[in-house]
Amino acid sequence: MNSIFDAEHLLFTPAAPIADAIPTVFAFPNEYSVGITSLGYQVVWAMLASRPDLQVSRLFTDGAEPLPHQPELLGFSLSWELDYVNILSLLESLHVPLRSTDRTNHHPLVFGGGAVLTANPEPFAAFFDVILLGDGEELLGELIDAYKAVRGGDRPTQLRQLAQVPGIYIPSLYEVTYASPDGAIASIQPIDADIPATITKRTYRGNTLSTSTVVTEKAAWENIYMVEVVRSCPEMCRFCLASYLTLPFRTASVESSLIPAIERGLHVTDRLGLLGASVTQHPEFETLLDHLNQPQFDSVRVSIASVRTNTVTPKLAQTLVKHDTRSITIAVESGSDRLRQIINKKLTNDEILQAAANAKAGGLSALKLYGMVGIPGETPDDLEQTLAMLRQIKQAVPGLRLTLGCSTFVPKAQTPFQWMGVNPQAEKRLQTLQKQLRSQGIEFRPESYNWSVIQALISRGDRRLTPLLELVRHYGDSLGSYRRAFKELRGQLPPMDFYVHSNWATTQVLPWSHLHSALPQTTLEKHLAMALSTNESFKEKGHDDRALANELEHAM
Ligand code: SF4
Repeated sequence: MNSIFDAEHLLFTPAAPIADAIPTVFAFPNEYSVGITSLGYQVVWAMLASRPDLQVSRLFTDGAEPLPHQPELLGFSLSWELDYVNILSLLESLHVPLRSTDRTNHHPLVFGGGAVLTANPEPFAAFFDVILLGDGEELLGELIDAYKAVRGGDRPTQLRQLAQVPGIYIPSLYEVTYASPDGAIASIQPIDADIPATITKRTYRGNTLSTSTVVTEKAAWENIYMVEVVRSCPEMCRFCLASYLTLPFRTASVESSLIPAIERGLHVTDRLGLLGASVTQHPEFETLLDHLNQPQFDSVRVSIASVRTNTVTPKLAQTLVKHDTRSITIAVESGSDRLRQIINKKLTNDEILQAAANAKAGGLSALKLYGMVGIPGETPDDLEQTLAMLRQIKQAVPGLRLTLGCSTFVPKAQTPFQWMGVNPQAEKRLQTLQKQLRSQGIEFRPESYNWSVIQALISRGDRRLTPLLELVRHYGDSLGSYRRAFKELRGQLPPMDFYVHSNWATTQVLPWSHLHSALPQTTLEKHLAMALSTNESFKEKGHDDRALANELEHAM
């Protein structure tokens, strides 16, 4: 029988499981084509499948390898918050109670990891027995080893032991209290003195980063071989989870890691994806380009995940064109220099113009700019400046197809803007851009405002969202469903506006206060204060803008 797994080329050798190997299911809460295109999922699966002491089966929403009758471990890789709905459905399909507290010794230990759970796992805390915070390279092996030491024990003993591993978070061992059912969080405490009061996420510091462990034509990115070139980003734009959550910025060694990895991958495919939050900032990126420009790689199609605007050189553009890529995406956030300074995006409109000119000079035919509305401090004038910048590019670089992709600012846990709410004006601003750009022949691709609102809710959610998430999945996936569930649960949790739109005081206990990331909260507060003072200095220079000052003063 044909299965989705038949088309796979493995780049590692799975181990033959030993006699009493631990039956394990490793799931991705979406379809196979999506899950298998996640480098994080691929790498964790290969790590698990390389261990003879585990018997691992993969599970997706549309297919699975033969599943064990009674798994002992059930893992999920969560890379998109709204996939939580599929986690709940998969748990049900495996006859595992949704909530950790309802599980017994006969049920598997449900563990999860990934960026979403590392930033703020609290809305999902009740669904997991074990959450892995941060990089999995070392942590995953430690989890399995620690589990083996308590394999025969009862569930409470197992969880208490696992809680001793640095980076492992056992939500059920922490008690959250509230000033009132729908009020602020009063405290988050471990249930006793044997459990660590805080947990710090794990940071892997090796110079070899992740590479694909499987290549398949069934991936969403067909036959792609993925190589992680950098991890994190040194720019630290104030809203950016990809930077703040994974700091410090780390790079894979070109000579000893990237080049050998690329050669291994290109034995089985001719499509290469260079991944990372800011790939072109690798200090030896030029060397990598020179390597890929050798004649033996002429037929290789190269895609680059993220390009910093002021690293778009004619050489980069030529390399991409040579390797079958016609367009490039740069994140500019706004056309307003003032707003970019507030968010610490070290970029000017002149540099954007130059990047567009370089892209065309190198032979690229399209440029996609990525922007954001509702950035704290934004005024209608900033929108005008974005429009003016796009007009200027169109005039200065005729023939280059321009697209503006645009999202709404969403506060992300563990970033300096975590205290700032979603601006309700953002929806109208997206519409304004749409109207103006249509008439100028610039393609506009907005992201849904309603989904941004849901993302913000989950991003800043606490444990009181658990019953809400359980309800919503029966109502359908729309913002209306969330509103309906809030109405139904009124009095049991704060209103939706509190999570989504309110600016939070920096003194309030955050749902993730006990989970420590790369930077301490005091540093994030300082970075928020720097954004405020940047805005103040503009005011002193005569800009009539009180918006950010008012917003941030409230938050401080
Ligand atoms: S440059 Fe991009 S990846 Fe880096 S911090 Fe800014 S938004 Fe994030």
